[in-house]
Amino acid sequence: MNESAPSDKLPSRGSLTRRRLLAASAGAALAVPLGGTAWAQASITDVDVAIVGGGAAGIAAARKIAESGRSYVLLEAGPKLGGRARTDTAFGQVFDLGAGSFGSGGGLAAAADAGKLPTTALPSGRRLFIDGREARAGRYDAFTAALGRARRDILAAADGGKDPAASTMLTAPGEWSATVAALIGPLSCGRALAELSSLDLSLRHVPPDDTTSPIGVGAVLESLGAWLSTQTHAQVTLITNAGRMHTLSLAGQRSQIRARAVILAVPAAVVAAGAIRFNPPLPPRLAGAFRAVPSGALEQVAFQLPGNPLQLEADENVLAKVSGDTAPALLRGRVNGSDLHVLTFGGAAAREIGEKGEAAARRLARSFLDTAFGHAHGEGVTEVACSRWTSDPLIRGAIAAALPGQGAQRRLFAEPVQSRILLAGEYTATNDWGTLNGAWDSGEIAAEKALRLVSAGPA
Ligand SMILES: Cc1cc2nc3c(=O)[nH]c(=O)nc-3n(C[C@H](O)[C@H](O)[C@H](O)COP(=O)(O)OP(=O)(O)OC[C@H]3O[C@@H](n4cnc5c(N)ncnc54)[C@H](O)[C@@H]3O)c2cc1C
Repeated sequence: MNESAPSDKLPSRGSLTRRRLLAASAGAALAVPLGGTAWAQASITDVDVAIVGGGAAGIAAARKIAESGRSYVLLEAGPKLGGRARTDTAFGQVFDLGAGSFGSGGGLAAAADAGKLPTTALPSGRRLFIDGREARAGRYDAFTAALGRARRDILAAADGGKDPAASTMLTAPGEWSATVAALIGPLSCGRALAELSSLDLSLRHVPPDDTTSPIGVGAVLESLGAWLSTQTHAQVTLITNAGRMHTLSLAGQRSQIRARAVILAVPAAVVAAGAIRFNPPLPPRLAGAFRAVPSGALEQVAFQLPGNPLQLEADENVLAKVSGDTAPALLRGRVNGSDLHVLTFGGAAAREIGEKGEAAARRLARSFLDTAFGHAHGEGVTEVACSRWTSDPLIRGAIAAALPGQGAQRRLFAEPVQSRILLAGEYTATNDWGTLNGAWDSGEIAAEKALRLVSAGPA
């Protein structure tokens, strides 16, 4: 093993572009064959930093390590980069089933800008519909007041040093209480307020998502990672503390990666489910913290409505007053000015879509449109495309949100594990958890810590 020797090549199953090859050869360490010369045979590759998981956090981390000139590899279990930001092209149109927008003030927007990737501003605010009609101005005001009151009530729990279920904090019933509860709970965090920590919610400060991209947010992330030294179809199954380095084993491969620092950027639910084993095991306190932030469910349903029957501007967001048995949803209408619309469901409805797929998605979308817009608009929904994040074994849910009483657990994710494993991902952010920007920043922070570790350690 020679940790500092220059490499002739770093293994990658994807095609290496010229820039990627340059990045790989500039920083990569030597691949050491064990009893054979081909990568297909058992081998060990040494790198300074191994990054596990190629979503926003993993891509941001890998870019920082690449810029430093240190050797690294980005290991992604799926076929491509992007994680929970995935651009689809069903119906011959570009749209996202997953994160479809982000805040313009964060690191992701700056990286997209520097990479000359196209972004567009989203309309501010959202329209409010009640029983088939748009709300009048007075009812907008009443809704906004109810939302503000609910947020203040939740903040009060944190100020009081307690962490009850967020539902117990909403004390003022009114015509908007069910809609406000759906917006803060299932539609934002994927779970009902009764299953959410008020402390965790009160610490969450997310600037509005005001930016999207005409090529799709998933495609933006893929482009930002396109030049990185990446191995796709590389599912890490075991991380072993091997003294001065950690060894990573991959599913279906005899080859191993040895790294002086590991950035673990997979969803919290993947770790909580034991899909990656650790030797020695994770400390019980940290394992408990992973169980304290289970994933909520968010799923999206895309469909076309030609001729703009809902009379929406491009990319308008619509919220409808919760009514009867109809599952609440958020609508992004006329994506990029097209005929395509995307509904986001949360909580129980999202879990049903995750389990049953398109039949459930179509039924829920039709019911929502009939209730929100009236005039049997639901009949216009014929074909649908939907996400199934909850049943994807590499994701296992939407975003990690703390259970009541467990809001303080999230800060444990800032500590290094076994001195060399750094955690990154949306769930590690304390203020903007559950967002692309939170994930991106967490990747950059983990990369800075990894570089400090690698610089300080023995050569
Ligand atoms: C329906 C939906 C809508 C959303 N909308 C928005 C939005 O509009 N704006 C916003 O800011 N956020 C949104 N989010 C949240 C946002 O998508 C996430 O916060 C963000 O994408 C998380 O990034 P990440 O890097 O932490 O994790 P991920 O993107 O999940 O990346 C983790 C990666 O790890 C890989 N992986 C898993 N196991 C292994 C393994 N064993 N070995 C190697 N790789 C592995 C996975 O395949 C995945 O690619 C939405 C989420 C959902 C589900």
